[in-house]
Amino acid sequence: MSASIELENVSKRYGALTVLDDISLSIAAGEFVVFLGPSGCGKSTLLRMIAGLEDVSSGTISVGGRRVDTLPPGKRGVAMVFQSYALYPHMTVRQNMAFGLENIGVPKDEIGRRVKAAAQTLEIDHLIDRKPQKLSGGQRQRVAIGRAIVKEPAAFLFDEPLSNLDAALRGRTRLELAQLHARLGSTMIFVTHDQVEAMTLADRIVIMNARRIEQIGTPMEIYQRPATRFVASFIGSPT
Ligand code: ADP
Ligand code: MG
Repeated sequence: MSASIELENVSKRYGALTVLDDISLSIAAGEFVVFLGPSGCGKSTLLRMIAGLEDVSSGTISVGGRRVDTLPPGKRGVAMVFQSYALYPHMTVRQNMAFGLENIGVPKDEIGRRVKAAAQTLEIDHLIDRKPQKLSGGQRQRVAIGRAIVKEPAAFLFDEPLSNLDAALRGRTRLELAQLHARLGSTMIFVTHDQVEAMTLADRIVIMNARRIEQIGTPMEIYQRPATRFVASFIGSPT
């Protein structure tokens, strides 16, 4: 399952402060797109608007050709994985993964089937009755991804999901995310400030800086032909 994502003239303002200014972008169904930019440039805000956790101030967002910017988060066909994992501490792994599905009315036996399949995919089936505080950072991260997978979304939204992992685990998880994308074929938007993650994961990279998109292109295009001075210095390639 995968869907295209369309942003048209999307802006976000908090009072007098503009944090995203007229963002337009088309993402193809099944594409792996990485938003890369420095801290504070608006990446998380943009992702949260696609997920429906923040309202747009102006502009429109469509998923699979359907306007979603006025729909509640559970009805947009997207699932978000947070940097902090955001697991419920009092629930087991199984309950954490099932919780979002009960909310959207998936039948009980179907929930059981999906949780089991996702736990096997992520190799956390032996942890299914544990609570988050009994898990390592990497294991928690898998549960957070599992919680998104069971929703069978048309698009996954990842907000710096690897930034709390140590370097070795980060590399391995990066590879597994690429494999997950290949297997599911879902559209993926991945936010990071780490250019190695961007270069290795992305079909296309969206370079952001201070409220705006600086450049959109394949990793090769961005690296070889940076469009602005900012991109050149951020990527660290010669101009
Ligand atoms: P990034 O994820 O790229 O680091 P964010 O999207 O978190 O950036 O934040 C972009 C800008 O918006 C920052 O300047 C941040 O302080 C501001 N911001 C984010 N959320 C709010 C909010 N609820 N109220 C006011 N300003 C906010
Ligand atoms: Mg952020």
